[in-house]
Amino acid sequence: MQTESEQLFEESKKYIPGGVNSPVRAFGSVGRSPIFIKKAKGSRIFDEDGREYIDYVCSWGPGILGHAKETVIEAVKAACDDGLTFGAPTRKELEIAELITAHMPSMEMSRMVNSGTEAVMSAIRAARGFTGRDYIVKFKGCYHGHSDGLLVKAGSGVITQTVANSAGVPEGYAKYTLVAEYNDEESVKQLFNAYKGQIAAIIVEPVAANMGVVPPKAGFLEFLRDITQTDGALLIFDEVITGFRLAPGGAQEYFHIKPDLTTLGKIVGGGMPVGTYGGRREIMQCVAPLGEVYQAGTLSGNPIAMTAGIETLKLLDAHPEVYAKLEGKTAGLAQAAREAFGDRVCVNQIGSLMSIFFTDKQVVDMDTAMTSDTKQYAAFFRYMLDHGINLAPSQFEAMFISDAHTEEDIRKTIDVIKEFAHR
Ligand code: PMP
Repeated sequence: MQTESEQLFEESKKYIPGGVNSPVRAFGSVGRSPIFIKKAKGSRIFDEDGREYIDYVCSWGPGILGHAKETVIEAVKAACDDGLTFGAPTRKELEIAELITAHMPSMEMSRMVNSGTEAVMSAIRAARGFTGRDYIVKFKGCYHGHSDGLLVKAGSGVITQTVANSAGVPEGYAKYTLVAEYNDEESVKQLFNAYKGQIAAIIVEPVAANMGVVPPKAGFLEFLRDITQTDGALLIFDEVITGFRLAPGGAQEYFHIKPDLTTLGKIVGGGMPVGTYGGRREIMQCVAPLGEVYQAGTLSGNPIAMTAGIETLKLLDAHPEVYAKLEGKTAGLAQAAREAFGDRVCVNQIGSLMSIFFTDKQVVDMDTAMTSDTKQYAAFFRYMLDHGINLAPSQFEAMFISDAHTEEDIRKTIDVIKEFAHR
């Protein structure tokens, strides 16, 4: 007997490539048919077969307060009554721009877009426009969305697709993307020596979370700040995951580093499709209509999306204790996983982000992440799912902990991890 999810997947495959609207959702690397989700509340998601799961995907990051937070939902419902989109400026766009600058003072000006991909693509165009340079440096295993020039040695779903670069990206375009090793200063120095004065920007996930979670080594982000400043290149922090998650002011607050440009997504949209990029005023003044870097959007700054974002940021502001609680819960979960598996795994954790890598190596970059036994991860994933716990369907993604995860949820999760580890 097929489950509802299996039936829906079969039908979806007829109309949607791979049956999904984003590749990792197909569960390709964990040997299962995906669960189709009907609804979600707090720390739980519910599938079409009526099964309930403690959710550690949290829609890949937006759900820092848990699913369907009442205050946010009520505000969104009220906003809908006033109209879904106007294509004209609104008070709410000003309000969220002010909130962003208040949290991340490096973002003196910002622009709303509709996804993290768009935010990064636009930030890079602004960096190129401002510096008059073409090359960018990214890190192997970091993911910055699916725009052409950034699908070079990218993380996230690109890893499990086993393609280093996407088909359909002209070589002449990808050649402007230079790739360095995460946490490896020497690899960055080499590029800056070889391309002196030609690099527009370094883009980095200040905490890498798309090859699994890999925190920066002490001094690495400071080094990136220094080398860009010396060369006249810009430093772009891709805080699509870390923004409002590591700290109210994101990784730049957590590590006390001021990037030139920042990209945001996920939490800033409170569950709606939103991305943002922004930074130093003189750079953002290059963007149209002020400057010659063109960037626009029919639905950018959409009033419903802005409402969800504003309410989420305001709730986080009203409950600053959330961050310490998240850190405590996540550290507890990480420690329990270390104790359960011993040196068979490497558990990386920072703030409310963590990954359990099935390797006995320290995971500090893409190469060490790739030493993980992905078959073990797949078995772990299936065991957890069968016992009511939803993890990311790939070794190379983060676990997201939300404010809605109770101590009881964490205890139950630890029990299932222990059962799996002892089998
Ligand atoms: N940057 C980072 C660091 C991300 O994690 C992601 C998505 N997971 C993106 C950019 C792209 O965002 P989106 O999927 O909203 O286009």
